[in-house]
Amino acid sequence: MDPKLKRLNFKTLILSTSDFLMPRVCLCCGRQLLPGERHLCCVCLADMPFTHYEGQVHNPMANMFNSRVSSTGYERAAALFFYTGGYRKITQALKYGRNFRAGRWFASLLGEKLAGAGWEVDVVCPVPLHWVRRFRRGYNQAEVIGREVARALGVPFEPRLLQRARRTASQTRLSAEERGRNLSGAFRVRKGSTDVKSVLIIDDVFTTGATVAACDAALREAFGPEIRVSVATLAFAE
Ligand SMILES: [Zn+2]
Repeated sequence: MDPKLKRLNFKTLILSTSDFLMPRVCLCCGRQLLPGERHLCCVCLADMPFTHYEGQVHNPMANMFNSRVSSTGYERAAALFFYTGGYRKITQALKYGRNFRAGRWFASLLGEKLAGAGWEVDVVCPVPLHWVRRFRRGYNQAEVIGREVARALGVPFEPRLLQRARRTASQTRLSAEERGRNLSGAFRVRKGSTDVKSVLIIDDVFTTGATVAACDAALREAFGPEIRVSVATLAFAE
């Protein structure tokens, strides 16, 4: 037998045995996954609401981001999929359920799409968590995503380029205007950071753009108004 085929059969056997002992389920609809499926069943994967924004310079998410930043040009923004229905569970599984495998898998899909659309940046930087929150959760979900995106783009990953200057209230229940006020001055660029000309900010979900706009403000203050700042997230909540 072809050794490759043998390995494949062995892998399928292991997967089906572990599926029997501890069934893997679709993140979106909860149906039990087949051995060849990963994170989503084939139906949910086929119906995945991709935004395709990575290939559209002007899109609703980029318009929202650009309306909040003081850039001289038009900055790019894209998300992998729309934050809708069961697909919301993808980012929730990473943020609250420590599902790093799924997080990394969707993040590398995002990275491949950005690379395929010709996105070029100097560094990739995640939206930082305040150290207290990071300590409590044990990780920063934006960092998990950013690392994979940087790998796909073949550029350095700088998880500590931005810092939280202060703790902020949870954004979840705030209006768009309150979010902006809550986050004003919340971030700063780490002292002694080397000069960069373009930064890609990564977050899990883009909602009003207040968070990434506050990051953008900190980057422009540190590196000057000419810096290009783009944004990529797993999901876009319309
Ligand atoms: Zn499904």
